[in-house]
Amino acid sequence: MTYSMAASHAKGKCATDKIFGANAAAGRAVTKYGKDKVVNATIGAFMDEQEVLACIPTVEKTFRNLPIDSIISYAPIAGAPDFLEAFINLTFADHRPDAYIEAVATAGGSGAIHHTLWNYSEIGDTVLTSDWYWGPYKVLCQDGLRKLDTYTLFDEQQKFNIASFGTKVKELLTKQNNLIIIINTPAHNPTGFSLTNSDWDNVLALFQECATDTTKRIIPLIDVAYIDYAGEKNACRAFLKKLGGLPENILPILGCSMSKGFTLYGQRTGVMIGVSSSKEVIEEFKNINQFTSRATWSNITHSAMKVMSTIYEDKELLAQVEQERAEYYTLIRKRANIFMSEAQEVGLQMLPYIAGFFITIPANNPDAVCDKLHDDNIFAVPLAKGIRIAVCAVTSAKITGMAGKIFKAIKAIED
Ligand code: PLP
Repeated sequence: MTYSMAASHAKGKCATDKIFGANAAAGRAVTKYGKDKVVNATIGAFMDEQEVLACIPTVEKTFRNLPIDSIISYAPIAGAPDFLEAFINLTFADHRPDAYIEAVATAGGSGAIHHTLWNYSEIGDTVLTSDWYWGPYKVLCQDGLRKLDTYTLFDEQQKFNIASFGTKVKELLTKQNNLIIIINTPAHNPTGFSLTNSDWDNVLALFQECATDTTKRIIPLIDVAYIDYAGEKNACRAFLKKLGGLPENILPILGCSMSKGFTLYGQRTGVMIGVSSSKEVIEEFKNINQFTSRATWSNITHSAMKVMSTIYEDKELLAQVEQERAEYYTLIRKRANIFMSEAQEVGLQMLPYIAGFFITIPANNPDAVCDKLHDDNIFAVPLAKGIRIAVCAVTSAKITGMAGKIFKAIKAIED
């Protein structure tokens, strides 16, 4: 392109989303060969065993029964108070940390990331995440005029690589005073990995060590978008309790979403939850993020907020939602188990999967392997160093045999 109308910081912006690209290719194959013949492992949403986008039935019922006023009226910019309270309580369950806690409504988990980047790092700063990461983190950083750097997520034993993590954190803190570290756990996208409670002890000990220099401000942005599909409710939330009692220059922010947990992806509803030992820091958190909402999207969709508070306030409805979601979780687990046991049988290497929507297979030439898989009408997402399989979207029948086919495709490309 030679002529541009764009401002200097906007020139050349163009998001080529590999996920939507791979999904479109799967759609073309469905038109050509029929739905039964195509495995679409690209979609980051739970599809039932009939390959239909699933909505938790009690969520759907509650949504459809909303009074029109809760759908069409403006919501408070910071979010409806009963919604915020419900979201905070559901997020922490029995593991609420001893700290000041506030929440601000955001346009999905994406909105929480957007606001954190804008309000807690300087323009030009570098943000840290793991080398396996959800692509939009980089888009969000670039659009907000920040850079993204990575540490190596796994060590040789395929455990959390605290050494690489620590080196990067310390290195960046020599160059800048504010450091946002995005940690997507539990049930990380794209690997399905979760930090253990002892990993969290190590991470927080490192932050505390760095925070002894009081000119430094450390902002762990914990992306918990998949927390409702990460295992037993309280077990996978136990680490949250550890966020209490930290120095005031460590501000954990939880990025939360109703997209997966309530199957309301398109309703664009989430929250950012700030956790601090300082009342001042948390008041500032509420003020500055609400301000940025006003300046970005004003208020978010009222209806999904009302769905959340209605369900939370009726213990029977809540129990029903949790029961129905647990069935989805069990189904995802079953699919993942089929894939993992077949992978082991054929000797296909995969990254450590604990829970969640995705499994990742490391590969040297992911694009070529994904193209090769098209011969078997299998569509997956090529990442920089591997192939992402959406176990949330592939039925048990179709996932059977898939590991062997991927193994063969990798052999064909790499041998
Ligand atoms: N974080 C991760 C890792 C995700 O995969 C997603 C959705 O795919 C999100 C956050 C946020 O999603 P949303 O903006 O729909 O809430």
